[in-house]
Amino acid sequence: MQLDNLRIDTINLSLNRYKKLSVHVLRLDLIHPVISGNKWFKLQPYLTEAKQQNKKAILTFGGAFSNHIIATAAACKLIGLKSIGIIRGEKPQKLSITLSEALHYGMQLFFISRQAYKSNHIPEEVFTTFNPQDIYVINEGGYGVKGMEGASTILKKMDTSTYTHICAAVGTGTMLAGLVASTRTWQQVIGISVLKNNLQVGEKIQQLLSAKSNNFFIMHQYHFGGYAKYNQQLIAFMNEWFEQTEIPSDFVYTGKVFFAINNLIHSGYFSSDSNIIIIHSGGLQGNRSLPKGTLIF
Ligand SMILES: *Cc1c(COP(=O)(O)O)cnc(C)c1O
Repeated sequence: MQLDNLRIDTINLSLNRYKKLSVHVLRLDLIHPVISGNKWFKLQPYLTEAKQQNKKAILTFGGAFSNHIIATAAACKLIGLKSIGIIRGEKPQKLSITLSEALHYGMQLFFISRQAYKSNHIPEEVFTTFNPQDIYVINEGGYGVKGMEGASTILKKMDTSTYTHICAAVGTGTMLAGLVASTRTWQQVIGISVLKNNLQVGEKIQQLLSAKSNNFFIMHQYHFGGYAKYNQQLIAFMNEWFEQTEIPSDFVYTGKVFFAINNLIHSGYFSSDSNIIIIHSGGLQGNRSLPKGTLIF
């Protein structure tokens, strides 16, 4: 893990100068190629607790392209724990790149029906190889108070006190809760939901916080059709953003966030003199499921 690689880039686009805004990106994507940014932060407290409780394996849930699954597999290998992935849906003929790599990191994969997945079902086969008391369970996406606590250290790695707006992608909302928990009263956190109709996520974020907060806001109009859905407009934007800033993004999370913030700047959402920081939460491995040549980076 290369935390020294963490840095904040300044985005010098003429649009920002024109709007008198200062825009920056916190590059969590640079700390590890696979245990992408926010996943590493969210996993830390869970892994520490699992070790303290002498657990032998981490069990968690995810889909075929899940950044959380691959990050958990790689992190467990790194610290010497076994890992078990409960994967949503029937086993496909050919595993996704994400899953084959998780397998390569030693994760044992179990496929369950979408129906069973919804109720966090752990298949019986798991217990033919593992004792229940040796397993430490982490929710899908690392959702939970410990994940929030891990994410609350993201803004503490560098001085971030002068930013007026902190913007990030929202899946389960765990990272956003951590960001909210660590901001000052004068800072506003903006979350871009990457899921369609994920309208309860604001409530889920409140549940992770020890005190009710009103300094965050979730935008629901930038999901591009839903989780991992994309169109030509998003791809063209991601390529253009890379040309202008040299910052690569992924089509599931960060591409949608950069698009959203750019769009909000255009529409005059931010008052002049706003000092904005966007969290690049990683996830670049997910781009490997796109047809070759789709992205220029
Ligand atoms: C998982 C993930 C998110 C979403 O984090 P949540 O805590 O689930 O909201 C955002 N960005 C990237 C790159 C991710 O992999």
